[in-house]
Amino acid sequence: MWYYVENGQQRGPVVDADLDTLRREGKINSETLVWRDGMENWLPLSQVQPSLATAAPVAGATAGAGGGVICSECGKVFPVSEVIRYGNVWVCANCKPVFVQKLREGVTVSSGPLEFAGFWTRFAAYFVDSIITGILGAIVGGVIGAVMGAAGATKGGAAGIIAVQLTAMIVSLGIRAAYFIYFIGKDGQTPGKKMCKIKVVNPDGTQVSYGKATGRFFGYILSSMICGFGYFMAGWDEEKRALHDRLCDTRVIKL
Ligand SMILES: [Zn+2]
Repeated sequence: MWYYVENGQQRGPVVDADLDTLRREGKINSETLVWRDGMENWLPLSQVQPSLATAAPVAGATAGAGGGVICSECGKVFPVSEVIRYGNVWVCANCKPVFVQKLREGVTVSSGPLEFAGFWTRFAAYFVDSIITGILGAIVGGVIGAVMGAAGATKGGAAGIIAVQLTAMIVSLGIRAAYFIYFIGKDGQTPGKKMCKIKVVNPDGTQVSYGKATGRFFGYILSSMICGFGYFMAGWDEEKRALHDRLCDTRVIKL
């Protein structure tokens, strides 16, 4: 377990592998002070690297100098013969069951390349979701209309009818919001996206938060303005991002 200093604050504990990740992400460098149990003083990372190297050599190069490779799960070094390769990451025999389990659960391997879903796949998913939310909205809207009608709202003339329509509109927007925010925040997949085997993720492949899912929903609204121009942006973006993906820094990937 390592502790390190970031912006004058002590952080940690993290394991060797995390230290590598932090270095790769540029959050720490060779000058960063690190400490672990048993060390007398905090030392720059560059000075503890020799000891770190025995456990987990410098990241960046997956193939270590001694001909070994780093397991992407535990961060330890193994001979090439003892690891399996998945995309551009290596996994040791010990970590393989956990790794495979993660793959099954749809956890994206952060160091692997993301495969972005194209416009038509996303359109198909969106189409399915629109039908589902449309049906839900029609049912709930119908009930509300009937209840308000029975309560005499429509007897007030035009104003009453507008009130009923307005309520139905707000409710249907509420249903869409709840649907998209719940499913995207839960596991990045609405039923439509599940069907099309695509998923909303952060740029590093991790699960988006409910907060981000909420922001993204409002991004949808922006994207649908100007005749859906925001959606079409996914058609020519190099990472296939629609306007709402750009705004919320999300990606849609193939599973
Ligand atoms: Zn391992």
